[in-house]
Amino acid sequence: MQVGMLFGSKLVTGEGEGEAVLDPRTGATIVTVPEATPAQVNDAVDAADRAFGRWSRTTPAERAALLLRLADRIEQHADELAALEAGNCGKPKHAVLRDETPAIVDVFRFFAGACRVTTASAAGEYLPGYTSMIRRDPIGVVGSIAPWNYPLMMAAWKLGPALAAGNTVVIKPSEQTPLTTLRLAELAADILPEGVLNVVVGRGATTGDALINHPKVAMLSLTGSIATGHKVLEAASRSLKRTHLELGGKAPVIVFDDADIDAVVEGVRMFGYYNAGQDCTAACRIYAGAGVYDRLVAGLSDAAATIAYDRVDDSENEIPPLISARQRDRVAGFVDRARALKHVEVTTGGRPAAGNGFFYEPTVIAGARQEDEIVQREVFGPVVSVTRFSNPEDAVAWANDSDYGLASSVWTKDVGKAMAVAARLQYGCTWINCHFMLASEMPHGGMKQSGYGKDLSIYALEDYSVVRHVMAKLG
Ligand code: NAD
Repeated sequence: MQVGMLFGSKLVTGEGEGEAVLDPRTGATIVTVPEATPAQVNDAVDAADRAFGRWSRTTPAERAALLLRLADRIEQHADELAALEAGNCGKPKHAVLRDETPAIVDVFRFFAGACRVTTASAAGEYLPGYTSMIRRDPIGVVGSIAPWNYPLMMAAWKLGPALAAGNTVVIKPSEQTPLTTLRLAELAADILPEGVLNVVVGRGATTGDALINHPKVAMLSLTGSIATGHKVLEAASRSLKRTHLELGGKAPVIVFDDADIDAVVEGVRMFGYYNAGQDCTAACRIYAGAGVYDRLVAGLSDAAATIAYDRVDDSENEIPPLISARQRDRVAGFVDRARALKHVEVTTGGRPAAGNGFFYEPTVIAGARQEDEIVQREVFGPVVSVTRFSNPEDAVAWANDSDYGLASSVWTKDVGKAMAVAARLQYGCTWINCHFMLASEMPHGGMKQSGYGKDLSIYALEDYSVVRHVMAKLG
């Protein structure tokens, strides 16, 4: 198994403490990966810094050709990468192959094309005798930090726009899920010029801290928790680094009385519990109109109870366990505290599953109220709360009454009502009569404490580049 990090053109073993990488389905250690010391982080940043001068002056066509080769390479190794990701995250391999690897390949192909078609404002004479032009230029070395829920996909979302825009990158995957990013580094090593992509592994407080505080890193990109977002901002403030933050979420799902309840049940069964709810856009906070509340709770409870997750034959499983014992205990704590409330009923699930793996039962929490912790806080587990509303104004107000602002959905047959509510929701994305659908062409990112960085789309290319003004005196 490839556990070497990439600094420049070399695969290097970490010289720091070893971190056990676990199989969440069994709790067994897959491999122990030594982390990068601060001195090694410095080597990786130096390699990225040395490569920046030449890479930043390549043409979009040159960068696109290499990103397309990388996409092809990932596609050729899709089965191997899916097996590695499935083993490290406990995900069903068939789900990774169907939902993740094609999307990862598409992200690199999208940014290969997008960097060739970016255009800016027309040049012109805004002062008599002077011609102005707007340039869009790369920023420098980007320090990227990824979470554990979609390790390779998050790497692709960060590398695609950063490299396409002409930056060089040092990326740190989560210490819990480094394996596919390390393999990607190996697969990319003979495609990208030396130092353009560098990978370091290690814990946040050690390797991550060295990366975010490195003086030669010009931009920090984090997908992770709000707490880590604060640390990144503190580090960035010391040398005014540019930041790109994608933090947590607590997606509201507003279901009006005229909605197709079968479609809602099917949608939430799929997108409330996908990846065991370890998804910042998970459809986890339902507001149901009083006319459909009972039918929705009953239908969703029945449907959630049929989700396959701990079958021995993994091809039958729909969702994985949680990533760690710590995460499973955290989820159990949220459910237990909710269950202790008199007005709450756990209508299905509500317990860790037996065995050594980090499984938790798909759970529905009915009767939750707006002020309850289970409605306010991100659980990041297979847990969906349902809250009844009688006044549609309350549903919109409650949906917006959240620290988070990443994703939301509205379910109704009345397209006018859906559009009016969508316009009032303070979320980076609102889906209508669906949830969780992503396209490489469309931006993904939040508002409020969910952060402000845009992934995917032309807007990510903008985030990873800087607008500059060049003015020439005529004559
Ligand atoms: P986390 O913040 O604990 O860790 C994320 C990454 O940050 C890891 O690589 C970790 O090592 C690193 N890190 C932690 N402390 C650090 C520090 N002091 N300095 C530098 N790096 C540090 O989050 P997680 O538990 O891995 O992921 C779950 C969180 O990520 C959830 O809150 C989830 O909602 C969020 N998330 C958001 C999105 C999005 O698109 N907005 C996508 C996936 C996950």
